Amino acid sequence: MGVPTHCPYCALQCGMSLEPGPAVAARSFPVNEGALCRKGWSATALLDHPERLRTPTVDGRASTWDEALDAVAARLLAIRAEHGPDAVAVFGGGGLTNEKAYLLGKFARVALGTAQIDYNGRFCMSSAAAAGLRAFGVDRGLPFPVTDLAAADAVMLVGANVAETMPPLVRHLRRARDRGGLITVDPRDSATAELAALRLRPRPGTDLALALGMLHIAVAEGHADKSYLDARTTGFAEVWRVAAGWWPERAEAVTGVAAADLRAAVEILAGAERAYLLTGRGTEQHATGVDQVTGWINLALSLGLPGREGSGYGCLTGQGNGQGGREHGQKADQLPGYRSITDPAARAHVAGVWGVPAESLPGPGRSAFELLDALGEPGGPRALIVFGSNPAVSAPDSARIHRRLSALDLLVVADLVPSETARLAHVVLPVPQWAEEDGTMTNLEGRVLLRRRAYPAPPGTMGDLRILRELAVRLGQPAERFPDEPEEVFAELRRASAGGLADYSGVTYERLRAGEALHWPCPDAAHPGTPRLFLDGFAHPGGRARMRPAEHTGPAEALTPDRPLWLTTGRVLAQYQSGAQTRRVPELATEMRVEVHPDTAARAGLADGDLARVVSARGAFTARVHCTTGIRADTLFAPFHFPGEQRANLATHPALDPVSRMPEFKVAAVRLERP
Ligand code: SF4
Repeated sequence: MGVPTHCPYCALQCGMSLEPGPAVAARSFPVNEGALCRKGWSATALLDHPERLRTPTVDGRASTWDEALDAVAARLLAIRAEHGPDAVAVFGGGGLTNEKAYLLGKFARVALGTAQIDYNGRFCMSSAAAAGLRAFGVDRGLPFPVTDLAAADAVMLVGANVAETMPPLVRHLRRARDRGGLITVDPRDSATAELAALRLRPRPGTDLALALGMLHIAVAEGHADKSYLDARTTGFAEVWRVAAGWWPERAEAVTGVAAADLRAAVEILAGAERAYLLTGRGTEQHATGVDQVTGWINLALSLGLPGREGSGYGCLTGQGNGQGGREHGQKADQLPGYRSITDPAARAHVAGVWGVPAESLPGPGRSAFELLDALGEPGGPRALIVFGSNPAVSAPDSARIHRRLSALDLLVVADLVPSETARLAHVVLPVPQWAEEDGTMTNLEGRVLLRRRAYPAPPGTMGDLRILRELAVRLGQPAERFPDEPEEVFAELRRASAGGLADYSGVTYERLRAGEALHWPCPDAAHPGTPRLFLDGFAHPGGRARMRPAEHTGPAEALTPDRPLWLTTGRVLAQYQSGAQTRRVPELATEMRVEVHPDTAARAGLADGDLARVVSARGAFTARVHCTTGIRADTLFAPFHFPGEQRANLATHPALDPVSRMPEFKVAAVRLERP
């Protein structure tokens, strides 16, 4: 009998069983029904990988744990004494367990006293989170179970290539696909688009124009659900004032998608008894990401989908704990329970749980890119502590961020392999992996899951929670304020979350061990959890969703004669995030390549299989040309998993969304040339 647990990678958090070997075995779990993608099947390959970190290092030399922790604490105290608490920054990750995310936020604000903490989830789903929170009063990626999609007649996937990023989810789209109800919005024919009855291929950066054009058609041609809009929303009149100007021909001219296809998409969604509109990073990772998602939410609301049984709007969160990671306080503007750090009542509640005065808690800090971009700069942090992230590869304008990381007085990285960020670090702290420790994750449908320890952690590693406790004590904190047992930390997290938007009070390890399906909010031990939100009303006072006008403005930079192509980035099936883990798994070996239309390649004097350079105003990366007619001739697609000269983020644009502070990952002006 193996140990039931969940995959270490994406937000689907497929159920699996771990056997001696170590080996992965199938396990029945609703989101994946026993299926796993290649990443899941090969997930144990990293456990005894030869590059596994097993000894702390200080300034490149192996050390004992005491030496490493003493060195970190002494340097942090010196930097703080000279430059103040905000000279120390913390960077977390959306793959950390709930317990780690929670304790990291507490460590930053209590032990370090710094406001400078943010995490890589800012680069993931922050635009959808901000738009969803604004519209519905609560941000939960999918406000319904994934399995509800299996009964859908129509599903529209906007910027979400689930057939590669979370393949087992595709099984829940079969019915919609078989009925001709699957619609994709993507500038290229991704593996998911290949399954769709209708593929919309807009110019990169024009999704909001597409959404406005569809909304115009829905209203002008009688598909809008007027009684739903009257009863369950506010703000439609303002939204229509913008959408009224987006007649189909204008939307076609801006997006490049035929008006007939826009009309067909509206008719499929409006004609379905059960329909879902789902967004992913393709439409969210823009400097206008919040407005783009708002446009899709407005469309979904106009069709009466959210909060209706069997229909809905949702965001397909990407990272393993992308949902939980944004709820427990590692975000610059949040405290646990998805509370605002500027809310006096929230500060008082959390400070009470932490046993510190509310006035001692810092206010909001810089967002992820702004934090990284300030490192080593005048007035910026002099020290950075990184847990569960690899910003040297994953941040936009990568050469610039590489310079910032290299300019620090102290860079501390806790990781399991020598990631590109760890290679720049003064102190490296080796930590256990997913299968070597207990912890909870919250998947894309807000379901809290227990990841169980199946194997012993290798000698020489130390758990993240223990590291935080040891450092906190060395920084003058009482040891009892920083528990290091996952279940004990979770018990405190539950108290901190009580009464917040993401209320975990009623979720316990005991209930999770017993196999209960607990979706937050779950406010007490007798509460069954909330798999479906909004059926009785949205979370704003009065229960109505709030529609907001959003006008299309386009990308942060324009094409020029020197840079006449759009670059867009994304994931491929065999790799995950910065690739620090999956690039080391032989079964997942993948080459960096750039997808190019054959006509575009020919104009650049390139053929399929050639090496090419993709050059933006910020930098250039190299990749092998993969010619395909399944991409727009004005667009290149490159995955962002690769390091060194192959970093797609060398070319991406760091313009930030004004609300979510999401960088413009998905559209940059570039040229293609021979190396
Ligand atoms: Fe499932 Fe995602 Fe893991 Fe693949 S990577 S097995 S889709 S959780």
